Formats: sequence, C-alpha cells, structure tokens
Amino acid sequence: MGRDNWQVHKFGGSSLADPACFRQVADILLAASPAPIAVVVSAMGGMTDALLGLVTTAEQGPDDIAPGLEAISARYAAAVDELLGEDPAAVEVLDAFRADLGDASDVLHAISLVRSAADRSRDLVAGYGELWSSRLLTAYLRREAGARDCRTEVHWLDARRLIVVEQREMGPAVLWDASHANAAQHFPAPADAITVITGFIAADDAGLHTTLGRNGSDFSASIVGALLKAGSISIWTDVDGVLSADPSRVPEAAVIHQLSYNEAMELAYFGAKVIHPQTMAPAVEHAIPIWIRNTFNPEAPGSCISGDVESSTQIKGITSIGGVSLVNLEGAGMIGVPGTADRLFGALRESGISVILISQASSEHSICFAVPERNSAMVEQVVRRAFAAELEQGQVQSVEVQHGCSIIAVVGDGMAGMPGLAAKFFSTLGRAGINVRAIAQGSSERNISAVVDAEDATRALRAAHSGFYLSAETLSVGLIGPGNVGAMLLEQMAAQAKALRATFGLDFRVRGIATSSQMLLAEAAVDLGNWRAEFKAGAEALDWARFTAHVNAEHLPHAVMVDCSASDDVAGRYLDWFRQGVHVVTPNKKAASGSLAVYDELHAVRRRHNARFLYETTVGAALPIIDTLRDLRQTGDDIVSIEGIFSGTLAYLFNVYDGSEPFSAIVRQARDSGYTEPDPRDDLSGMDVARKLIILAREMGQRLELEDLDVESLVPVHLGSGTIDEFLDALPAHDAAMRERWQAASDAGQVLRYVGRLSREHGASVRLEALPLAHPFARMNLTDNIVRYVSRRYSDNPLVVQGPGAGPAVTAAGVFADLLRLAAYLGASR
Ligand code: ADP
Ligand code: ASP
Ligand code: MG
Repeated sequence: MGRDNWQVHKFGGSSLADPACFRQVADILLAASPAPIAVVVSAMGGMTDALLGLVTTAEQGPDDIAPGLEAISARYAAAVDELLGEDPAAVEVLDAFRADLGDASDVLHAISLVRSAADRSRDLVAGYGELWSSRLLTAYLRREAGARDCRTEVHWLDARRLIVVEQREMGPAVLWDASHANAAQHFPAPADAITVITGFIAADDAGLHTTLGRNGSDFSASIVGALLKAGSISIWTDVDGVLSADPSRVPEAAVIHQLSYNEAMELAYFGAKVIHPQTMAPAVEHAIPIWIRNTFNPEAPGSCISGDVESSTQIKGITSIGGVSLVNLEGAGMIGVPGTADRLFGALRESGISVILISQASSEHSICFAVPERNSAMVEQVVRRAFAAELEQGQVQSVEVQHGCSIIAVVGDGMAGMPGLAAKFFSTLGRAGINVRAIAQGSSERNISAVVDAEDATRALRAAHSGFYLSAETLSVGLIGPGNVGAMLLEQMAAQAKALRATFGLDFRVRGIATSSQMLLAEAAVDLGNWRAEFKAGAEALDWARFTAHVNAEHLPHAVMVDCSASDDVAGRYLDWFRQGVHVVTPNKKAASGSLAVYDELHAVRRRHNARFLYETTVGAALPIIDTLRDLRQTGDDIVSIEGIFSGTLAYLFNVYDGSEPFSAIVRQARDSGYTEPDPRDDLSGMDVARKLIILAREMGQRLELEDLDVESLVPVHLGSGTIDEFLDALPAHDAAMRERWQAASDAGQVLRYVGRLSREHGASVRLEALPLAHPFARMNLTDNIVRYVSRRYSDNPLVVQGPGAGPAVTAAGVFADLLRLAAYLGASR
C-alpha cells in the first residue's frame, strides 16, 4: 500500500438519491485514472433520516412501523430493478436487503415494546442505509465495468470489518492499530480494482456495530484515506465545492478553490454542512489533500483542502449554526475573583455539555456563553446549582438564558493580524439592522463569531457575505414611476452596470418596477436594456405589499426604493419601508416637505431601522445643493441665509419675457415645448419652489411648515380652480398687470426674477422681485438654477452653486449619484 497510489472517493447521500445518480457515480468512477480506488458511500439520500424516523415511531408504540418499512422497501426495490434489471446480481442484492429488513423490523419491534431505544439499537437501524447503497453500487459497477470492459474487479467491504473506533466523550476515536491490521487483510491492492466501502458505520473495540455520527461518511472516507495512505480524498456532493456560505441561504455564495485544513475545520464546525468537522484529522496527519467536488458537474475543479495554502483573501467563508441559547451570568461579586470561569465551565463539563462560544468582558462583571438550545434547561439548572450560594448572597445577581439564537462566524487564516476586519464585520451587521447579542474571537484570529437572534441569522449571513466582497455589493432596487426621470435612470443604469460591477464590485439589481396601477417583478433582475418589453409582457396589477416583499428579498442584504413619481401616495409608504430597513432614494418632494410631524417621524423611524433617505434631487436636480448645505453645517459653519432661483420653469419664463410678447403667450409656448408641468399652475403657484425652500430650511435646522412661508402666487386668485384650458384661456386678461410690473422694473434698469429667500432672521419667502441687471440672478442661462449661501465663512463673497437644475437627464443622474452614495455607505469599495 503506497502513497499517491490509492485514490479515495466518497459519495454522499445526495449523490446517491436515485438510479440516475448511481449512473452518474459509475461514470465518474469508471472514467477515473487507473489507480486502485476505494469508494466510500453514504446511504441513499434521506434513507438515514427515514430509518431514524422509524426508531422514533417505534418508541411511540408498535403500530406505525410497517408503512415506513414498506416505503423503504418499495424505494430500494425500484432502484434495484432499474439499475440491475434481469441481472442475477439483483436477486442477491435483494435477498441481502430483505434479510436486513427482517432484522431491522425485529429491532424496531423490540424498541416498540420497551418504548425506548438504546443507543446501540438506534445505531444499528441507522446503519442499514449504507449497507444497502453500497451493495447496490457494487453490483451496478460490476455490471457496468463488464459492459464497458474497463475494470475487472469490484469488491465490496463492510466497514465494520475495517474501521475500529472507541466512543469517547468527544465522539468516536479511531483505534489505528486495530484498523491498520484490518486494512492489511482486506485491501489486497490489485492494481486495477474498485473497493466499495460502507460509510458511516464501524466496529467498536468489542467488535460490535457502531456509527461515526450523523454525516459520518466524510469521516469514514478520511479514515480510509489514512489507512491506505492515499494520494487524495475526493468528497463528491451536490455543490461545486466548499462555498463561501451555505448556498441555500446565500445565493451569491462562490466556490472557495483552495483552503487550509484549519479553515475547513472552522467552517465545518460552525455549520458548513458540506464537510463533517471530524473529517480533517486523519487527512491532516498524513497530509492528504481533500477535494470537494460536484457529482452533477464533474468538470468543475472543486475545492482543494490541504496543508499548504497561501491565503490571498482574508476571509474565506461565513457560516452559521442555529439552535443556540445564550446564557449570561452576571454579578458584581465575580469581579476579580479567580476561578469563577473554571467553576462554571467545570460544572458544565461534568454534565457533558459542550460550550460553543464564550465571551467575558474584561470587567469580569459577567460571563456569557452559548450552548445548544436543547441543553439550555439543564444548563440553567447546572449553573444555578454551581453558584447557589453566590446567588443567595447576591454576589451573582442573575443567570439569564436567551433562547432562539444563532451564531454567525467569519472564517479565514488570513484574518490574523489584519486590523479592521472585526470592525467591518460588525459594522456590516449594524448597517443591516442586526442586533448582536455577544461576540467572540478565537485567539487564533481565524474566526470571529457573533451571536444574533435566530430570525436575523439569514440576513446577517447575507449582509456579512456581501460586506466582505465574496460577491459583489448587491442592492435590490425597486423603481417607482418609470416616467421621464425614471426611464432615463434605467437607461443610465443599464449603460453603467458593467463598469460599476467591474470597478467597484457594485451590483444594482432592479427587481421591481411600479407605475401607479401596475408592477413588474423580476426574479433575478429586470433586463434594463429591454425593460419596456418586459413590462409590457409581464406586468401585473400593482400590489404594494407584494412589491415591497419582492424588492426587500430575504436573500439580498440591502433593498432600496427609488421613487421617481411625484405622488403623495408613494411618499406615504416610506415609513413602512423604513420600518423594514428599506432605503429610499427620491426626487419626490412630497415627503421631505410634508408636515413636520410626518418629517420627524420619517427620520426617527429610518434612524431606528438603519435605513437611509436620500433626496438631493428634490432641489435643483443633480446640483449639489443639499449636500453643500450639509457640508457647511457639519463642518461648523453658520448659515445666515440662502437665496436663489429654484425653478427652471420660472427662470425660463422670466428670461424670455421682455415685454414684447404677452406673458400669457410665453406661458402657453413654454407649456407646448414641455418646459412646464402639464398644468402650468403647478409652477406658477410657487408651491414647487416653496417645497424646495422648506426642504432646505429643515436642512438648515429651521422647523418650518409650508404654511409658514410667504409665497407670492403668479396664478390669479380666481383662476386657481378650473381646467388647464380654462386657465390658459383666461390668463391673457392678466397680461396688462404683468406688463406694468415689467415696465416699472425696466424703467429702473431692472429685471423680474422669481426668487426664494431663506434667512435665519427673516424667515422664508418666495416672490417675484425686480433685481438690478448687475445682480447675479439677472444674468442666467435659460433654465438654470442658482443658489447663494451666505454664512459666517462665506460672508463677503457668498458661495454660489449654479447650473441646469431641471430636466430628465440631469435629474436621473442625480438620483443615480444618490444610489452610489447609498452603496458607499453600505460598504462598497471605491
Ligand atoms: P452529502 O449528501 O453529499 O453528504 P450534504 O447535504 O451533507 O451532502 O452537504 C452538502 C450540502 O451542504 C450542500 O448541498 C449545501 O447545501 C450545504 N452547505 C452548507 N454550507 C455549505 C458551504 N459553506 N459550502 C458548500 N455547501 C454547503
Ligand atoms: N448516512 C449518514 C447520515 O445521513 C452518514 C452520511 O451520509 O454521511 O448521517
Ligand atoms: Mg454530508
């Protein structure tokens, strides 16, 4: 028996679920390079569970065992029939199966009589699955080898004649001498043979049947590898390798191509089911590389677990274990008292309870530890008993048990000595709104663990996963109102998507688009280049609850609603979104300029739930008007006043109006060219400008309501109601009055401008004013916005922001920029 000669392969239950899987397994084995092969097999998928289920049923009484046995029998017989057909081996395989089933049935009956199963009986019943699958695979391989004329010998080996273990407190320990002696006898090692071995089961030192524990076939494979000094061990399963997180919970998980034994062990211990934690020891001892490969995608290279891995990435994977309780022992009397921890954990050890995680603050005021939930009642008793005297005297104040917790662990060798990783881990959890109950870091720095509420576990996994760039930073986007601005935004996002992904690892997924009556939900993401057609083909009636749930999908760590509508109704939903931790990005002014009560509540709720509310584009489209104001304030400047022209439409009207044509005609032309709202009164009333001023006022720290503003409406009083046409028809009657104002201004060398003013001392106003030609507001491009900030620092020479402040392209770009700001906040790299 020599190294590099033998190959060990192990096929898990998922690789042996049905006859098609067996064929796949045979293809892999018969195509393998010509070296002696040992194949360790699990039971057919679900079989061990079914057998253990029967044990539980039997414990309740004798009645319900028969149907379960029949179901097992029917499944196996069908598989034998399909794989072996008329082959005489079928009879042998079925005879052996029926004999086993008879024995199993006897044991189950015995259990049902005493209404309780001894460990040995349970192990015996559970272990039949491996006997059956391995016999069937052996017969099928023989048949196929014959048919393909490629392998001459296929042996079958019952692992109870090979692997000898002793059951200890920490689980089964291999008795190597006895096992080696068996191996010498049972592996004659012909150059070109396959030996099929039962996984999971073994003999104990008395020669009796035992098992290696749930998922123990991985361990079997590694033991066989060590016994044979194999060149490699391949664990074949149903995923492409060890993934950066459990793929059923983190769809973004990616294959880790290389990992060290230690990393794999840590991942396995903290819940990565793909490999059993005990597997590593025998392989490590003999430095045998372990490959994790996909039976259903054998071309994929898989993951290689070995001793010499240069760690390039700091974090390898993120895992979780559920079903955990957190116990907190608290008391001032513990401070500085040596031996408290020793007493505590000594007591737990004596009761056979394994502690998963320990965390003690350096004040020693409390010790906090995690145990399996099923042990928690016992743990509480044990601890109370151990500290009975202290509890009575008040030196220990409380023993608290919190149920329903999970542990999230970040694992990687490269974490050692890398400052900031823990901060990153916890800040990602914080931003995802996850409450961390306890923290522990192993001194190896290979693992940082956090205890969270079980219901947060999946979200925590996903947030941490994307936070560490195992996958691109992913943001689920719901777009509301694909009108001018919304459609332009989708176009801009489509054009930038690739570059953002490549350069910043940013992955925006528009998973929903809603109009006022319809919505399109996309499973992965809407194809932005083709969204109109997708909307046409797939839109359904709008249902806000479903829309929200879909965009705020469990498997994506962050969700954002982009509200490009101008709707009050949509603004009314922000509160609900914030409560769910969904961010909002919007050019819609309704919420930010709504009543103070609503405004305050919105900000309070979004803060509580770690949601962001970004609305730079509510004032001056993409111009940095709100951001500039925030920068001034946050850097300690004092803002004295803000004034400006905040409406592109009104800027245009008064730029064009030179007294030669009636004002009403200019309004009509502007409307026809799309420079005004569909109803020009929305612009002329000044309410739009007033809302912008309110937003700025609040950013400045002034608690103003819309009613507090002094607004001069340019809509004549009695024309406020009525249709748009009626309004446009009646407007010429007021041309003379406007012309008079213009003339007066013109005579004084002035022009008319519609100006918003906000001052610390003089409140806020929106008015048509006459300004001298030299005034900066007088010399403006057509639809430009201009804003002047006067502050303590900018007192003599005010700070001015000027430029195009309206139009779909710049507004959409501003919304896009807010989305990028959000991503940066959530942790995207720059
Ligand atoms: P087998 O039947 O082959 O023993 P298991 O079901 O025991 O397979 O283990 C494979 C499964 O482990 C995968 O299908 C996957 O859902 C789950 N899994 C959990 N965590 C991980 C991880 N980090 N990497 C890969 N698979 C994982
Ligand atoms: N069949 C056993 C189990 O399900 C062992 C294994 O599959 O690894 O636990
Ligand atoms: Mg397994």
